[in-house]
Amino acid sequence: MTVHTDVLIVGASAAGLATAEAVRRSGFDDRITMIAAELQAPYDRPPLSKQVLSGAWDRHRTRLRPADFIVSLDLDLTLGETALSLDVASRTVQTDRRTIAADHVVIATGAYPRGLPYQPQLRGLHMFRSIDDAMALRADLLEADRLVVVGDGVLGAEIAATARGMGADVTVVGPQTGLMESQLGSAVAAILTELHAAQGVRTRLGAQVVGFTEADRRVTGVRLAAGDTLPADVVVVAIGAVPATDWLSGSGLHVDDGVVCDRWCRAADGIHAAGDVARIRDAPTGSTYRRENRTNATEQGIAVAADILGVATPPTPIPYFWSDQFGTKIQVDGSIRRDAEMSVLDGDPAAGRFVASFQCDGVVTGILGWNMPKQSRRHRGRIGIAVSDVEEGVATGLGRRHHVRQ
Ligand SMILES: Cc1cc2nc3c(=O)[nH]c(=O)nc-3n(C[C@H](O)[C@H](O)[C@H](O)COP(=O)(O)OP(=O)(O)OC[C@H]3O[C@@H](n4cnc5c(N)ncnc54)[C@H](O)[C@@H]3O)c2cc1C
Repeated sequence: MTVHTDVLIVGASAAGLATAEAVRRSGFDDRITMIAAELQAPYDRPPLSKQVLSGAWDRHRTRLRPADFIVSLDLDLTLGETALSLDVASRTVQTDRRTIAADHVVIATGAYPRGLPYQPQLRGLHMFRSIDDAMALRADLLEADRLVVVGDGVLGAEIAATARGMGADVTVVGPQTGLMESQLGSAVAAILTELHAAQGVRTRLGAQVVGFTEADRRVTGVRLAAGDTLPADVVVVAIGAVPATDWLSGSGLHVDDGVVCDRWCRAADGIHAAGDVARIRDAPTGSTYRRENRTNATEQGIAVAADILGVATPPTPIPYFWSDQFGTKIQVDGSIRRDAEMSVLDGDPAAGRFVASFQCDGVVTGILGWNMPKQSRRHRGRIGIAVSDVEEGVATGLGRRHHVRQ
C-alpha cells in the first residue's frame, strides 16, 4: 500500500529539520512526513567531537530541538526508517517499511564517513559520524592510553584535541604539511599544528597510512608507507565523508559526489536536496560545490522550504564553518586556498587572537577569526572584494594592512 504525503523529508538532522521548521513557520498546515535511518531524536553533530567525546555533555544535550517543540511541528516523524529507493517521476520513496508518495521530496540524508580501501573490522578501530560513534570512541579512550588519529582535516584535528584534553597520548597522521591545511591555508595550518604540539599532540604529517597491525582482532598500530608502525590502543579514521546517495542509484537523479542541484537546491521537478548530500551547480560557470558544514545545512534547508512554498531565495554563496580546539575558536567565512596571501587585520597570531583576510589574484576569498569571533564577523563584508578597493577604503572604510605571502 502506498501512503501519500505533501512533503516527505528523508533525513532528520540539521538540513531536514531546518526544512520542516521553515515550512511550518510559513503557516503551511498540510502533511509533512519525515523519516530518518537513525533511532536517535534529531541531534546536532558538531558537539560530538567536542563536548560529547570529552564527556562535558551527555547525549541528550545534543538534541537539535526540545521534544515538545518537535511535537509542535506536527510532523509524521518516524525514526529508524531507511529510504531504499526513489522513483523520480512519481516522487515515490520505498523505505524498509512502506511506500511513500509525495508532492515534494526533500533529500537530506547527509553523509557517512569515508573508510580506507584496506580498512579491516577490528576492535578499537573507529569511524566517527554519529552519536553512537562518539560514545563508542569515548568508552574506548577511557580504557586506553595511545590514540592514533588517521586524518589531518577538521574532524581529525578536533578529535585529537579533545582526546588529548582527556589525557590520551595522541598522534595525528595525514598527508598534508599542516593540520587542516586545505581549510585554513598553509600559514594558519602551521599555527594550528604548533598549538597541538604545545599541548602534547604528536603529528606525522606528509605521511601515508598503508595498513594496520592487530592482535586477537584488536588494533595495535597504524602502518605507514615510510615503513614504521605507530603503536596504538585505539585508532580513529577521520579522512572525510561520502554523501549518502546509495539509495538514489538507479533513480535517474544526477548524482556526482552528491545530488546535483541548481542554486535553489532543485534536483528534479518536486525534488530538492539540502545539506551535506547536496551538490550545487552554478549555472553561469558550470562549477559545482558541496559543503559539509552546519550553517550550510540550515541555510539550504530554509532555501528548500522557501522554494517549496514558491518564494524562492537561493542560499548565501558565502560558506562559513567553525571549529573548537584546545579552547581556541577558529571561524572561517568564505574559503582559503593553500597559497592565499594572508593579511592580519586585527590582533596578533603570537598572542593567540587575530583576524586575517586571505586573497587570491587580488580578491579577498576568506576571513579567518582565531579567538576573535565578533571582530571576525565584522570583516565578512570584504569577501569577494578586490584588495585594491579594500586598501583604498572604498568597500569597508578600513585602512591598509600588512600582507604576508604564505
Ligand atoms: C563529528 C562532527 C563534528 C562537526 N563539527 C562541525 C563544526 O564544528 N562546525 C561546522 O560548521 N560543521 C561541523 N560538522 C558538520 C555538520 O555537522 C554537518 O554539515 C551537518 O550535520 C550536516 O547536516 P545534514 O542534515 O545535511 O546531514 P546529517 O547530519 O548527516 O544527517 C543526515 C540524516 O539523514 C538520515 N539518513 C541517512 N541516510 C538515510 C536513508 N537512506 N534513509 C533515511 N534516513 C537517512 C540520518 O539518519 C540523519 O538523520 C561536524 C560534523 C561531524 C560529523
